Amino acid sequence: MKIVNPATEEVIAEVEMADAAEVDRAVERAARAFPAWRAVAPGERARLLRRFAQVVEDHAEELARLEIANAGHTIGNARWEAGNVRDVLDFYAGAPERNHGRQIPVPGGVDVTFAEPLGVVGVIVPWNFPMVVMTWGAAPALAAGNTVIVKPAEWTPLTALRLAELALEAGLPEGVLQVVPGEGEVAGARLVEHPDVRKIVFTGSTEVGRLIGAKAAEQVKRVTLELGGKSANIVFADADLSRAVESAPMAVFDNSGQDCCARSRILVERSVYDDFLLRLSQAVREVTVGDPNDPASQMGPLVSAEHRERVASFVTDTEVYAAGSCPDGPGYWFAPTVLAAPAGFDPLAPGSGAFHRAYTEEIFGPVVSVVPFDDEEHAVRIANHTAYGLSGSIWTRDVGRALRVARAVEAGNLSVNSHSSVRYWTPFGGFKQSGLGRELGPDALSAFTETKNVFIATE
Ligand code: NAD
Repeated sequence: MKIVNPATEEVIAEVEMADAAEVDRAVERAARAFPAWRAVAPGERARLLRRFAQVVEDHAEELARLEIANAGHTIGNARWEAGNVRDVLDFYAGAPERNHGRQIPVPGGVDVTFAEPLGVVGVIVPWNFPMVVMTWGAAPALAAGNTVIVKPAEWTPLTALRLAELALEAGLPEGVLQVVPGEGEVAGARLVEHPDVRKIVFTGSTEVGRLIGAKAAEQVKRVTLELGGKSANIVFADADLSRAVESAPMAVFDNSGQDCCARSRILVERSVYDDFLLRLSQAVREVTVGDPNDPASQMGPLVSAEHRERVASFVTDTEVYAAGSCPDGPGYWFAPTVLAAPAGFDPLAPGSGAFHRAYTEEIFGPVVSVVPFDDEEHAVRIANHTAYGLSGSIWTRDVGRALRVARAVEAGNLSVNSHSSVRYWTPFGGFKQSGLGRELGPDALSAFTETKNVFIATE
């Protein structure tokens, strides 16, 4: 596989794609490494993960530069991502010693539960946040005593491969964390099918997630699914409109819109709709799109030519309300784009046409659709009128309304007067077709352990 820098279109590496037999060998190595890894004393496993976090910190700039070259992330984002990998490893380094069971009162004996590791865990990763998403799966899985095989996305394997080397450098035993680059339908599918892989953590499209869920069900294999989104940014007329307008562009255009939490639908209360749209257009024109190595760039290129073509297909037939600018020449650039609802558009009605398609489908690029709403109840109905339910934002000064709407919107991660979605110490995941299960947060180890109940007779 030729790995291409999306900002320059230069080939920066060639990576061999694993076939099914190579995946089988990796599973064999992981299964062999499992008994010793689960037997490592909790404090020692903690120390190894902490050392891994430190080695990542020592190589943070290198990892960030690699992600810029491979995925086109801006330098600010890439540095944050390398820091996030370090922090997630560090956070779950605290978990082995806290992986408690319970003691439950029973007659005639003692009843205790153990949180047992599952065995070999497969982590299948998308291209939009390669090193971060890999670590959200791998770190708690390793902390719980599992061995892990990561299958990075075809276009973006470089940081994952480097992290596997750094894990060895930190002292993790051979076979405990492996990275196997390969095609989804070949290497990914084999991980899902392999009977010795006990759990799959899949982050990617809802379409592939559905396939993986069905395949895993044949073996009653555990799955965590982190899938797509079409999240609503709901702006009420009583909000601090300046803050809502200023923050709206990067809530969808960050990482060039290639973010599962992108607030790609903006719902605005009708009385401030025209004003909001005008001010949003101005803010979008000010978004700086350019060389991801330049700290002034807010947005880099899209990940590939193929993906740019897909994103472009959403705006060819529809009227663009406003657009920013982007470089021409080499690189998969796409200008931030605002689409406004055509007159009479009803977001609750079954529809067709170009705007309807852009408004309902996950574009995964820098394109945002804006629609008006009449009142709180209408806003909630529009926000929930989607198969997805990953994240969303609510802008209002009314605290009661903020809480009512936050409770009513069917999504896993909401923010009020903010667009933040992810903190590694809080749970993350989707409602409805945005996923199954949760990652991160204080309970992540429960997704990588089975509860075992043991009764010991005292009579
Ligand atoms: P994708 O579904 O095309 O691929 C994701 C991964 O699955 C890749 O590694 C791919 O090789 C592999 N794959 C593909 N077909 C497979 C198969 N049949 N069996 C096993 N593995 C297979 O997704 P993508 O285009 O890489 O990523 C974009 C999608 O990911 C978007 O929908 C986005 O919303 C989603 N995403 C979700 C989250 C979240 O946490 N909810 C985070 C990031 C991205």
